[in-house]
Amino acid sequence: MSHKNYSEYEPEDQEVEDSLNDIYGEVEVCGMVFDSGRILKELDRIAFDQYISDSMQWYQCGVCDKIYRDDDAEEEAKECCQQYCDDCGKELDDSNESGFCEDCQELEDEEDEDDNTEDSES
Ligand SMILES: [Zn+2]
Ligand SMILES: [Zn+2]
Repeated sequence: MSHKNYSEYEPEDQEVEDSLNDIYGEVEVCGMVFDSGRILKELDRIAFDQYISDSMQWYQCGVCDKIYRDDDAEEEAKECCQQYCDDCGKELDDSNESGFCEDCQELEDEEDEDDNTEDSES
């Protein structure tokens, strides 16, 4: 079980329009006011799709379905509900609290032991 439990999220047309409206607001054409997202979709579907692939790289956590829309969306979705080893990137169990996989944890422990060596009992 080491599949990555997140996926790219395909935004709905409406969500794309909303995003465009947030950025570009309303446009006035011949005295009529339209949402810019809708205009782009109606007039130039190719540009609309291009905007999706350029600017709407959304990712969804496969566990809780939360959608991430930031620049770091892929990373955030990947780590949502899931943990990966800080060192080697291997997927971790839910119960893991160290942030390291077993292999890397062993190395960490060994280093700790070296640091804390006490000569009292040797
Ligand atoms: Zn999640
Ligand atoms: Zn590791």
